[in-house]
Amino acid sequence: MSGIENSLLVVVVDTNPIWWGQSRDEEQIKLTLTRCLDSVMVFANSHLMMNHSNKLAVIASHTNKSYFLYPQKEHSKAVSTAEDDSQIRQVDGKYELFAQVDEEIKSEVKNLILGGLEGELHADSLLAGSLAMSLCYIHRIEKEHRSIGSSLSSRIMVIKGSEDNPAQYMNFMNTVFTAQKQNVVIDACILDNDSGLLQQACDITGGVYLKIPQLHALLLYLIWVFLPEPSMRHKLTLPPKAQVDYRAACFCHRNLIDIGYVCSVCLSIFCSFSPICSTCQTTFRFLGPPKGSKKKSKKSSN
Ligand SMILES: [Zn+2]
Ligand SMILES: [Zn+2]
Repeated sequence: MSGIENSLLVVVVDTNPIWWGQSRDEEQIKLTLTRCLDSVMVFANSHLMMNHSNKLAVIASHTNKSYFLYPQKEHSKAVSTAEDDSQIRQVDGKYELFAQVDEEIKSEVKNLILGGLEGELHADSLLAGSLAMSLCYIHRIEKEHRSIGSSLSSRIMVIKGSEDNPAQYMNFMNTVFTAQKQNVVIDACILDNDSGLLQQACDITGGVYLKIPQLHALLLYLIWVFLPEPSMRHKLTLPPKAQVDYRAACFCHRNLIDIGYVCSVCLSIFCSFSPICSTCQTTFRFLGPPKGSKKKSKKSSN
């Protein structure tokens, strides 16, 4: 009995330029994107260090796209050849894989940011897309592992600062339920705005949701709360579970609502009554109060 399983960690980092560019108060100013990425790199390397066969991917969730920071496309095929290994051998006495992870993340972030932005900027990031991308990647790697007869447990960790966008509600929840079905745990490390969507994602998949109280201690929280495998966590004293905001977004305006109307056929949610369901086109007959009660009230008045 080995007890140690190979683990694939997909880190999704919010690189939203609007959120990172905002002016902050004293406390928050200590965390810049560069510092955040430094922490992510240490965290990622720690994950690789836990077990020789651990796997890693890092995806940037940007305002208009999701982008692989690590591994690079060409690299995944060529990685095992000896010639490639010698090129990245020991920089400053650093273990070559760590140096390689750091280099790739740094250069890809540079490409992402220098690549500029087409169209208008949005205050939210394409998180649903990044999660879908993570799940596809996990699916591929798990399939490869199964074909050589080894097992792999996978999880996704999201580091997020920007606001939620209720417009992504449908896509987001679909990816969350897909993750649940594939036994992929979603963890969330929140830098600023509480995220109702991620609270639900973590609750549904059994992950940890934590809004970091002190931003300058990001690395500490990453190592303490998010580095241990989900199977080990019940042995640790972790921060108490956050209250989950289980509001759903209406399908008509994408607003988060407490009470709404639900189509009895397709379960779509609406914030106001409409005689035709816009999702499944079912027509509702609105009957008013039952006839019997009207007669009775007439009789009683006579
Ligand atoms: Zn609505
Ligand atoms: Zn319907």
